[in-house]
Amino acid sequence: MKKLKYHDLNFDVNTAVDEMFRSFDQVIYVDINNDIVADLKNSDTLLNFDYESMNSDEFFRYVRNNLIFESDREVFDNVQIAGKLNAELGVKWSDGIFRKCYCKTVRISANEFIYMLLDLTEYSNECENIKTKYLEVENIQRMQYRKNSHKYRLIIEQTNIVLYEWYAETNSVIFSDNARRHFRGYYDSDFNLDEIFNSGVVYKEDIDFLKKCLDDIYKGILKDKDIKVRLINLDGKYIWYNITISPVLDENGKLIMAVGTILDVNKATNYLIKLKYRAEIDDLTRLSNPYKFTEDMNRLMKNDNKNYAMIVLDIEKFKAINEIYGIEFADNLLRYIAHTLKSLVRREDLTGRFSGDCFGIFVEYNSDEQIVSLIERICKCVSFYKGAALTVVFGVYRVLDNKIPRRKILDYANMAKSTVKGKNLKRFAFYEDSMLLKMLEEQHIENDMDQALYNGQFTMFLQPRYDIQTSEIIGAEALVRWLHPDRGIMMPNKFIGLFEKNGFVVKLDRYMWEQACIQIRKWMDDGLRPVPISVNVSRINVENPQLTEIFDGLVEKYQIDKKYLELEITETVYYDNQDVFLDTLEKLKNSGYTLLMDDFGSGFSSLNMLKNTPFDILKIDRNFLDETIITDKGKKIIDHTIKLSNDIGIEIVAEGVETKEQAEYLLQCGCNTAQGYYYSKPVSLDEFERLFNTG
Ligand code: C2E
Ligand code: CA
Ligand code: CA
Repeated sequence: MKKLKYHDLNFDVNTAVDEMFRSFDQVIYVDINNDIVADLKNSDTLLNFDYESMNSDEFFRYVRNNLIFESDREVFDNVQIAGKLNAELGVKWSDGIFRKCYCKTVRISANEFIYMLLDLTEYSNECENIKTKYLEVENIQRMQYRKNSHKYRLIIEQTNIVLYEWYAETNSVIFSDNARRHFRGYYDSDFNLDEIFNSGVVYKEDIDFLKKCLDDIYKGILKDKDIKVRLINLDGKYIWYNITISPVLDENGKLIMAVGTILDVNKATNYLIKLKYRAEIDDLTRLSNPYKFTEDMNRLMKNDNKNYAMIVLDIEKFKAINEIYGIEFADNLLRYIAHTLKSLVRREDLTGRFSGDCFGIFVEYNSDEQIVSLIERICKCVSFYKGAALTVVFGVYRVLDNKIPRRKILDYANMAKSTVKGKNLKRFAFYEDSMLLKMLEEQHIENDMDQALYNGQFTMFLQPRYDIQTSEIIGAEALVRWLHPDRGIMMPNKFIGLFEKNGFVVKLDRYMWEQACIQIRKWMDDGLRPVPISVNVSRINVENPQLTEIFDGLVEKYQIDKKYLELEITETVYYDNQDVFLDTLEKLKNSGYTLLMDDFGSGFSSLNMLKNTPFDILKIDRNFLDETIITDKGKKIIDHTIKLSNDIGIEIVAEGVETKEQAEYLLQCGCNTAQGYYYSKPVSLDEFERLFNTG
């Protein structure tokens, strides 16, 4: 439609019409055939939407659906179709407020109309007939005033908020007009509150709550209140409404009335309820999530005279289960565990899933035996699942002080659990303070380790390996010492385990390997005859498919013969990840390195295994030597082990030889090489060179 102003038009408006124009608030000219609209009073209020792109049909449809009050649209249609010339309509003014308008239509020609609108707001209220059954005149006036005020209108028309006033003395309520668009009932007048409660407008279960709130307001206990209750809507359904209640007091502080709003918050509330459920319940297992678990813990722990224990558990190598059996299997397993836990604890006890395969239970208990028995029952149920053998580890924290931060309870239980992880026979541990100390110590170490490596605090010591017969040094093992500026010399058992857990051992090992290469290079440069140095290769490194390339890179860099760099790999790796382990060994072997099986006899050693692995040298563990050599039977085992190894072409090095007798016995059995305090402790490089030269 073309948009024109009055002076753009070329027809002559007669004076009578002109006169009428003046008394109307809005005058609009429409030419249907030519798609023209004109704002004849240049008031530019009603028509402040973009109709230039519309044809007249679209224009009328827009006006009808957007600017005419819903219940008046039929009347508006009649104005159009039946040529009903005068009507009262609710029309939306440019300020967004619907006003009751008197609308006069003048037809100029077959296709030209003039619409004249008069705002009736001021008049109509005078006509409104309000019953005064309970209300004092003053109150009516107050409500009247509100009904007229712009703000009030804006609120009720624009936001769907129902306003109400509750008069304490008469216990009556009046609602804003729009109440009828929301809920069932008759809202034109005031209501006795009891009538409302009896009428079924408020949901049964919410009545007492609402009454109590109003009562508290009445007694002055409550100031402002914001509550959610269910009220019946036009379809007869109870849906959530938010009701605000604000008391209005007289100068003596006595309650005159309460005012407030009622707003449909059904969607939002239902959404919140769902969200809350989602936020509290773990989707997979239907157990509580950590948030809900902690909340429930808080609730239980208010009870000061009961003993509570937190038990956390998880499945060892759950990742492997995922990989081997698939995610669906693993999910079902988690559900099964959840189900088992629930069935084994009492109703009042708490069960939750904290992450992946980590579960928690919070139970009331009387004795440690009770906890142990519960753990045993859980173990029994979950040690096998559909053909998969599972190891579940537990950590227990006994709550001694109910005021302890909740987070700590979980931390301590987890700490206890972490002391069990990876151990073969132990399944659970109770938290002890020493664990905390150890953890703090570990934190110190972790804080320091990077800097220490950078600053060269890790130092290579060498423990010589001897030919038993000639007492000659024929090799050395590289063992790390941490020369800590504050703590002095730290032995590897203080930190290697931790570095294996946190992965730092990868860096440290490489550093040590390089130190060994540097040393060999130095001996060569000094014109000395080098002896092979064996370096320790930690488990994680063995899992690295690039391991051979790393060693190749080092011998290349320092230009040393591979026979001088020997690799000690501990046998327990064999059980962890066989394929990778064997692949790596083959590669190293093929590349020309000498492989030593470290700590033979400390774990589940089997001679059978030797057949399948390309080790050149077996290092008999110190403890194996210690424990067996004292009995006759033990002596025989050592004897046969050595003979058998020799038979299949594998050399033996005895570790931890501390006495002459041990050395002699070993020699007698056919073991020619030994390492141990009887010969020498691990020593600094200077000391080693001295030993070597005087050796
Ligand atoms: P390991 O590889 O079995 O090293 C032998 C350990 O036995 C050394 O302990 C050594 O000092 C000790 N030992 C040697 N002879 C005797 C003896 O006659 N009697 C007794 N009681 N002990 C003896 P150390 O140096 O404390 O190292 C402990 C462990 O730490 C090593 O056991 C090794 O597994 C690990 N480790 C040391 N350095 C490194 C390293 O650079 N990298 C890796 N990954 N592990 C290392
Ligand atoms: Ca070793
Ligand atoms: Ca060893």
